[in-house]
Amino acid sequence: MRFDILTIFPNLLDSPLQEGIIRRAVAAGKISVNIHDIREFALDRHAMTDDRPFGGGEGMVMKPEPIAGALAAIAAEKPGGRVVFLSPQGGTYTQETAERLAGHQHLILLCGRYEGVDERIRANYVDEEISIGDYILTGGELAAMVLVDSVTRLLPGVLGCNDSAGNETFSSGLLKNPQYTRPREFEGHPVPEVLLSGDHAAIAEWRLVTAVRQTLAKRPELLARTVFSEEELRLLKKNRLLAAVEKYRHTGR
Ligand code: SAM
Repeated sequence: MRFDILTIFPNLLDSPLQEGIIRRAVAAGKISVNIHDIREFALDRHAMTDDRPFGGGEGMVMKPEPIAGALAAIAAEKPGGRVVFLSPQGGTYTQETAERLAGHQHLILLCGRYEGVDERIRANYVDEEISIGDYILTGGELAAMVLVDSVTRLLPGVLGCNDSAGNETFSSGLLKNPQYTRPREFEGHPVPEVLLSGDHAAIAEWRLVTAVRQTLAKRPELLARTVFSEEELRLLKKNRLLAAVEKYRHTGR
């Protein structure tokens, strides 16, 4: 998977690539991340990448020519990348979006600043606008890193078995069950006995039941799309959770 990121603040993106799973993915050649300074594609001698908005009003708008120039340079090297504009006006980013994007081989992430980019770039060069939530950031760089991080960890061979992407919050339609590690007792609070029992069936049942309880308490609307196996439905019934789950599955609320 190749990522190209277009920004006027390239230094902002350095350190997230230098740590943990993303650093390992780069080192192993699972991903490449190319950061392009939009300023290098400015046409005037002051390397201007923004200008005042036509019609007046507050703030500055990112000029179209440097962005188009950067996109052309990337296309000349590798055509066909999907251009994603990080924007508060885009569709809200979810795990499903990350899974869909992980199916592409080349993502080009455009980071806006100021009041955003000239509309002609959005209309003519952008394949998709993505927002990471209903709030306004000062720029698209952190949002771009959210995409790089969440897409990369889904790529085959990126996560070791110690941090698998299966069976986690959102991937299964349930919030992840609570997790415990050593010590067995912390500030008077013991780890649930079943987790120390070595009884794999009982542990699996506990994980299902606690995951469903967490989902019911925190994000019940997720249950509308959760698919349970026959065995899981049997266990939910046994633990008196089926009625509560069914309520959300049928109403979608
Ligand atoms: N004036 C714009 C508006 O009201 O829609 C907001 C511009 S914002 C200050 C500057 C840039 O930050 C945007 O062009 C976009 O690239 C990025 N940005 C801000 N909030 C974002 C969000 N929630 N998700 C993704 N990108 C965001």
